[in-house]
Amino acid sequence: MNTNEINKTYESLGIDPKVIAFCQSTEETLRERFAQIDYNAEINQMKVLKAMQDNRLSDVHFAATTGYGYNDIGRDTLEKVYADVFHAEDALVRPQLISGTHALTVALSGNLRPGDEILSPVGKPYDTLEGVIGITKTKGSLAEFGITYRQVDLLPDGNFDWEQIRKAVHEKTKLATIQRSKGYADRPTLSVEKIGELIAFLKELKPDIICMVDNCYGEFVDLHEPTEVGADMCVGSLIKNPGGGLAPIGGYIVGKTEYIENAAYRLTAPGLGKEVGATLGLNALLFQGLFLAPQVVSGALKGAIFAANVYEKLGYKVHPNGTEDRFDIIQAVTLNSAEAVIAFCKGIQAAAPVDSYVSPEPWAMPGYQCDVIMAAGAFVQGSSIELSADAPIKPPYTVFFQGGLTWYHAKFGIMMSVQKLYEQGLIML
Ligand SMILES: *Cc1c(COP(=O)(O)O)cnc(C)c1O
Repeated sequence: MNTNEINKTYESLGIDPKVIAFCQSTEETLRERFAQIDYNAEINQMKVLKAMQDNRLSDVHFAATTGYGYNDIGRDTLEKVYADVFHAEDALVRPQLISGTHALTVALSGNLRPGDEILSPVGKPYDTLEGVIGITKTKGSLAEFGITYRQVDLLPDGNFDWEQIRKAVHEKTKLATIQRSKGYADRPTLSVEKIGELIAFLKELKPDIICMVDNCYGEFVDLHEPTEVGADMCVGSLIKNPGGGLAPIGGYIVGKTEYIENAAYRLTAPGLGKEVGATLGLNALLFQGLFLAPQVVSGALKGAIFAANVYEKLGYKVHPNGTEDRFDIIQAVTLNSAEAVIAFCKGIQAAAPVDSYVSPEPWAMPGYQCDVIMAAGAFVQGSSIELSADAPIKPPYTVFFQGGLTWYHAKFGIMMSVQKLYEQGLIML
């Protein structure tokens, strides 16, 4: 293969020949891993395609509804397709679920009643859930409605603390919340298989416990989803993996009919449930995004693995490491200094299709104890299936990197981040 043309292209975009050579040689070592990712994407693509065919998807389903949205057959079909893809009984997939946090809030508050207890057997949940549950005192939290919370941390080696989980489950334990992705915590992401083991253990302790999985960033990484290993509900955001970069808004809840119905009564109104909710012409994008999602996720995964290997070779600590199996699309890189974190984020921003000319700066974002820097040049605001990076400016100076609508763009983003570190004299090549 003649690589001159592509190298010249990268040079014309401002990448130093040394950075290009370093990155290209790293990519060469990843062919086998990438083949495995392509294999998974191929199977997941067929899974999504079959769900659309089985539900006789047609262009009548792309028509816009307004007002109450009665008889929105596009919405109803989208929910059937999601249910099939996740091997679940039913689904709630709505633009009115405005984010992942909102979808999780609806799933929890629809299914919990005063006196119930939530158990997180996998440690502290995602930051925004602290307010929802009321771990930190927040107006309108579940705690204010008399719902209590208990947590069992993972063991230092990342495994479940079976003994403490056994002790934590009692007659009031109504629901277990299981976060698949590490999010921005320093713990391993859970494989679907491990989630299955945890659910089996919980159900043995208490057969009627509702097992809810926060599936954010995990969709289509594996060949199976948590609903296939016993999860009663799986919840996520459409501006992450399953929206395929096309969904402009939305969240989903899939799972058992009873729990989906309870969630729907909370999202709209008791007695109305799933029967209402206009889709305003968004259905085509939600279907098309789901159709593209397996391919988009594969590109983001390749980007994460590429980043891990590039930065590992440069001597930085990366999590997961260059050779570990992947269960979500997030990559953490510990860069050891504020300058390096800022340079990395400036590289990601400079590689973006949108707002590439702006320069991200650390700022005091509400809700954070220290300055935070965020790089994103996305078509959809806040979309983290698109190439993005963020980091709190504090030791050990870890940046979290995710997304990329195509592998080529994810690769270029990483190359540009290396370029910025190189220009600053922070790395030697
Ligand atoms: C992103 C995320 C959420 C919340 O999603 P938002 O859409 O940002 O509200 C919850 N849990 C995990 C693990 C996430 O990654």
